[in-house]
Amino acid sequence: MANGFFRVPAPVNEPVRAYAPGSPEKASLKRRLDSMLNETVEIPVVVGGRRIHTGATHDAVCPHDHRHVLAKVHQAGAAEVEQAIAAARVAWQGWSELPWEARAAVFLKAAELLAGPWRDTVNAATMLNQSKSVYQAEIDSAAELVDFWRFNPHYMSKVYEDQPGSARGIWDRVEYRALEGFVFAVTPFNFTSIAGNLPTAPALMGNVVLWKPASSACLAAWYIFCLLEEAGLPPGVINFVPGRGSQVGDPVVASPDLAGIHFTGSTGTFQRMWKTIGGNIERYRSYPRIVGETGGKDFVFAHPSADVPSLVTALVRGAFEYQGQKCSAASRAYIPRSLWEAVRGPLVETVESLPQGPPTDFRNFLCAVIDEGAFDDIMGFIEHAKGNHGFEILTGGEGDKSEGYFIQPTVVVSAEPRSKLMREEIFGPVLTIYVYEDDDLDATLELVDTTSPYALTGAIFGRDRRDIEAMTRRLRHSAGNFYVNDKPTGAVVGQQPFGGGRASGTNDKAGSAVNLLRWVSQRAIKESFVPPTGVRYPHQDEA
Ligand code: NAP
Repeated sequence: MANGFFRVPAPVNEPVRAYAPGSPEKASLKRRLDSMLNETVEIPVVVGGRRIHTGATHDAVCPHDHRHVLAKVHQAGAAEVEQAIAAARVAWQGWSELPWEARAAVFLKAAELLAGPWRDTVNAATMLNQSKSVYQAEIDSAAELVDFWRFNPHYMSKVYEDQPGSARGIWDRVEYRALEGFVFAVTPFNFTSIAGNLPTAPALMGNVVLWKPASSACLAAWYIFCLLEEAGLPPGVINFVPGRGSQVGDPVVASPDLAGIHFTGSTGTFQRMWKTIGGNIERYRSYPRIVGETGGKDFVFAHPSADVPSLVTALVRGAFEYQGQKCSAASRAYIPRSLWEAVRGPLVETVESLPQGPPTDFRNFLCAVIDEGAFDDIMGFIEHAKGNHGFEILTGGEGDKSEGYFIQPTVVVSAEPRSKLMREEIFGPVLTIYVYEDDDLDATLELVDTTSPYALTGAIFGRDRRDIEAMTRRLRHSAGNFYVNDKPTGAVVGQQPFGGGRASGTNDKAGSAVNLLRWVSQRAIKESFVPPTGVRYPHQDEA
């Protein structure tokens, strides 16, 4: 071990590139998009550094052009899971005992590789396979993931620095050990940065990992895995096991070595996994740490004093960026009757001006939703609004899945504040609005708080400080990320640690020391320099 208390380079957020017309960054990314569209990649399972082509493949496609195959993804099953667990076990000893600064260096290097030579590849893969506009890809797969890899080593050093005090003659220390066993990282389709963070945060803390990427978003995940290898991550520390949810998940959670789950995805999937783990609890060597960020039904609440132009901008960006497929997307809004006429016109006009199409055309604001299942689910909500009383579709309402899974950005007014569209997560480009009477402000805040089981993000708009304070207090438990006069999306690592409570997750804030603490098991060490040699205490000498 080296002698020295090393300090992690002070983390700074990665600047977001603009990709303006004529810029060199735009030309370079366009070239990578073109080359990626002309190749079909074979994505293997990787276990202990060994590439396995199982032969059972799943196509990775462009959601905006679903006949275009970008990659053939070899699917892991029970046999590969077993091999991955064995490989992780082998890697555990060396990795968990490697000096922390050596582990930090792997991810700090990964950050620089992603900020530099890998940026176009990971952005292009996110644009093509997840149908993200260039800006949405840049803030996710480049900037946010770079930030995770720069800030987490800094937070790790803060965790390790936290040491107890010692009485005279004693030295108390706390060691932050890796968990015994492996962590199962299960990642969603919608954020490449989350896909990169969920396996690497536990690995940074000395753990070994099985990583199952979302079936609909394997291309960027694959390139991240390759980048980590280039950054010097030893074989077996993270094992790449793409495959169908239950086919990979069931054998993993049956393993006695399961030490933790780092999950982001839907509430239903998370609750099923938690139940299975609960049912298996006697078989594990230790109680698995369960960390999950799940669904949302995120709100925007406008006070009668709200500024209309900033409210409209927040509604449009919050609801429709990345086609509303953000866990934080504005999905229900509460607008006072006194503002409604002023909001309605500009809102519809702005939404109708949003260009939609493939992400390769940089003019587009919206692209396609992720797959046919998502398309059908979202259109089901829109059909519900069309077929039932109490809904008015202000704009949008049509979808077309013939070439790509395109759904128009849709704004619905709901006369009933607890209707299906006001209550359930839709995860698509649908914003539902309830217009409340100004006199019912308190009762409407109660609705905001109690209409859905989620508590992920929420935003309030208003001007008077007393109103802002009162609304902030009233909605204290309604969101883990709360915004004042801002849209409810776009959390930045190191600035707004992200996560929600209630049915939205365990709120172990991604990109914070709190999250990293879940991936260690503390050992308190007390050392006595001159230990006592007799058992009698003074009170025993009573006359
Ligand atoms: P999902 O369908 O629940 O899938 C998430 C992951 O779970 C995928 O990798 C999926 O694999 C896997 N999975 C499914 N069944 C499994 C099983 N039995 N065992 C192990 N893994 C299993 O969610 P999604 O559609 O990808 O993502 C959308 C959801 O994520 C939304 O609800 C959104 O709100 C939530 N989300 C939350 C946050 C947050 O921070 N709170 C952030 C992003 C997204 P397959 O792809 O193979 O099915």
